[in-house]
Amino acid sequence: RRAHYAALKDTPPITRDGTRIALLHNSGLLADMPMLEETGADGIGLFRTELQFMIASKMPRVKEQVELYSEAMRLAGSRPIVFRLLDIGGDKVVPYMRSMAEENPAMGWRSLRLALDRPALLRTQVRALLQAAAGGPLRILVPMVTETVEFLKVKRFILREVERLPRLGFERPETLEIGAMIEVPSLLFELDHLLPQTDFISIGSNDLIQFLTAADRANPRVAGNYDAIARPRLRALKRIVDAAAKFDKPVTMCGELAGRAVEALALLSIGMTRLSMGASSIGPIKEMVLGVDLGRLRAEMSDYLENGDTDGSAREVLTEFAERH
Ligand code: PEP
Ligand code: MG
Repeated sequence: RRAHYAALKDTPPITRDGTRIALLHNSGLLADMPMLEETGADGIGLFRTELQFMIASKMPRVKEQVELYSEAMRLAGSRPIVFRLLDIGGDKVVPYMRSMAEENPAMGWRSLRLALDRPALLRTQVRALLQAAAGGPLRILVPMVTETVEFLKVKRFILREVERLPRLGFERPETLEIGAMIEVPSLLFELDHLLPQTDFISIGSNDLIQFLTAADRANPRVAGNYDAIARPRLRALKRIVDAAAKFDKPVTMCGELAGRAVEALALLSIGMTRLSMGASSIGPIKEMVLGVDLGRLRAEMSDYLENGDTDGSAREVLTEFAERH
């Protein structure tokens, strides 16, 4: 299989009826950057910057952060990287940072909430990203946004740092795009406010599905009980895709869903065209993309999604579709 997938490296992921799908990696450490060459993926859809913090024994200094980001950009070459701001807390433990015991860490003091309360940490990271990008393109993704106003706070914070660059003796980035992660359900109900403020959005299915189903992603007793691609979840995801299309903003799926064949098929069926996943999933997902007739798939699934009385699960409908074609 490996050799088979390796041979697909230079084949662009285009569906049978001609739609180009973007396939991207989830990454976070330099070790997996060279995999881009092996898979021929379009870039890094999600660079989890907290990984550097999780494997370190003390807080990485600005210099170490700049080094990581610059090296990642160098290794990616002309392929784009989306750097996600620190997503610490919840299931992501940073041993040298004092944390309080929380009853529900996934819904606790984590990620953007922590960053807004600890602006020094955020400032260091934003400066490191800006210094690494100096004169080149920079894409920053804001995790765990709960309300549009929070996103605007971070955006203003970043733009203020950009303004300071010349005084600090650094070049401004050539282009700067700032995007929001959609992983807290509340945002689904103000996409019309959020989208005009963002340059792109990225769906974190791991968190979004756990919050939509109120089932802890880290608790094996419940995590598998609710199918991530059952009708209500797919309808929620479709709402995001449709809103992004209306405001003409790119939307990427960056949670684990995108790396599994039937799940990825479900995402294509609701109009997603940008999928980010672990590097080892690129081959199998590309093969699926090459074999799919997107027009037919969308027609069958929109019928299923709209007609509430259809028997069977989305998974059955998709599996049956895959077998038939
Ligand atoms: C997600 O929540 O789907 C996501 C991509 O972020 P993480 O898994 O790092 O929380
Ligand atoms: Mg998440």
